[in-house]
Amino acid sequence: MRILVVEDEIGLADAIGAILTKEKYIVDIANDGRTGLDYALTGGYDCILLDIMLPKMNGLDVLTYLRVREVETPVLLLTAKSGTDDKIKGLDCGADDYLTKPFAMGELLARVRAMTRRKGVTPDINPKYKDITLDLKKGAIICGVNSIVLGRKEFQMMELLVSKAGQIVTKEDFVKKVWGNDDDSEYNNVEVYISFLRKKLQLLHSVVQIKTRRGIGYCLDGGMI
Ligand code: CA
Repeated sequence: MRILVVEDEIGLADAIGAILTKEKYIVDIANDGRTGLDYALTGGYDCILLDIMLPKMNGLDVLTYLRVREVETPVLLLTAKSGTDDKIKGLDCGADDYLTKPFAMGELLARVRAMTRRKGVTPDINPKYKDITLDLKKGAIICGVNSIVLGRKEFQMMELLVSKAGQIVTKEDFVKKVWGNDDDSEYNNVEVYISFLRKKLQLLHSVVQIKTRRGIGYCLDGGMI
């Protein structure tokens, strides 16, 4: 499950990012409307949390543009205003729900769960590939009777590999989804984490292997099963 947070109050954006990450969502953060729109247009998100008052491009314009471009990702508007004007405008522009600041993080999580359920995304079903299952709650890989709890980044990488099983995941995809868009300092760590994951798959005696596609990226391979 990937969530985009578009919010210019850095402290709030980071707090939302931290709480969502703790819940095992993969989170990207954009601090202005223009950047948020660029990320959102990739269509790679299960849900977008969108502030209305944003620098460069306001949230309602971002939302309108997304819907015109037929990006139907569920959008939860975050509004500082208690007035109903923005809310009505927002819903007219194609928002799925809104939350007035300040809000409790528990309520935010409940809204995110409700929105992703409504859109037919099923966060409670643990992703599977061949003989492995990812336990989203525990952040673990299960294989038969064995399981191993992964570090947060390892788990996010594994989730990305499983969600794109049969396709190649590039280093750039990992950096973007796991490390965040504006941090390239960890670029070389992708290989290190892949080697950790390979060791753990071996320990589990899984048939699943992470194959290297030289110069392109990585993909899961389930052998003959
Ligand atoms: Ca704002």
